[in-house]
Amino acid sequence: MESPLTESADLPWLTTGRTKLLQGGHKHHCLLITGPPAIGKYLLALDLANRLLCENPAEGGACGSCWACHLVSGSIHPDLHILMPETYDESDDSTLLNHAHRYLDTGQSSQKRKPSSQISVDNARLLSDALLGTSRIGGRKVALVLAADTLNRNAANAMLKVLEEPVGTTHFILVSSYPYRLPSTIHSRCVRVECQGPSSKDISTWLRARHPVQEKQLSALLLSGLGPIELDEVLQNEELKPINALITYCMGDDDEIPHGLGLAARCANIGLERALTILQSMALATVRESAKGQTPAAGRGLFQDVKFSLRAFHKLGLARERVRSAVDDQLALEDICAWMCGGHSQP
Ligand SMILES: [Zn+2]
Repeated sequence: MESPLTESADLPWLTTGRTKLLQGGHKHHCLLITGPPAIGKYLLALDLANRLLCENPAEGGACGSCWACHLVSGSIHPDLHILMPETYDESDDSTLLNHAHRYLDTGQSSQKRKPSSQISVDNARLLSDALLGTSRIGGRKVALVLAADTLNRNAANAMLKVLEEPVGTTHFILVSSYPYRLPSTIHSRCVRVECQGPSSKDISTWLRARHPVQEKQLSALLLSGLGPIELDEVLQNEELKPINALITYCMGDDDEIPHGLGLAARCANIGLERALTILQSMALATVRESAKGQTPAAGRGLFQDVKFSLRAFHKLGLARERVRSAVDDQLALEDICAWMCGGHSQP
């Protein structure tokens, strides 16, 4: 049975980056941790934040037993500030959520609308104002910004002043899977740390050690292109069935020629963002494997044609951006599914 992920040491592919980061990360006041989605970058960032606040840090990280460490693990350290969007899909870690609570809009208005996948300017200002004050405990202040690429332009501007002229000893750790979306003004103030993602074999070995998963299910999961942390949650929450259904449908294994409505229905069962990621990953697998002269694993059914897969990859990327910028989800879904299953002879 799986155990909850509490530190980056639980993730073997982060070992090298972890050692380097924990030994030298405290030397820079603003770090930008990047790498593929859902590989556990948030755990690395949390471990570094903990090491920065710890009263007796060692080479390998925080001591885990001092007062500051207890405050961090209890999600009540007043000088650890965590900012992230209301929907942060890389983790439902309770330490993270409890700490982030003070910058999430939990007022009545939020109950009437869809939770935002972006960091709002109001929340960025709240963080910025809090950091202009002195440290509550008298040591460092650490600001962790997860999914930093979801800071919109105004929110990024709201943070620039504290990034440029921090009060006291303030460390910023920004985490992003899509750093190209961040404005250059943020990039220029950060030292970038790139994390390598795991290979398919690494993911497979790790998942197998945590879940009783069958070989066939594992192959489909690896084809989904989702990161290991997300796959771990899929298995933990028993969400495998709809993902398998979408992949099987696209591969033409259902004895049914994929059509727009059928595809849209299977995507809706998964959630649009995740479904688009899976479709894009299947399209990319065909292109990559064809380029290597291999028979693509996803290259049956919908993604059998390389040229179509290449165009689908780009269109799915655009659809993901549309969804991100809050265009009507259902409309975006029907649009891309209709194109993929019929209209793709059109440019
Ligand atoms: Zn400690």
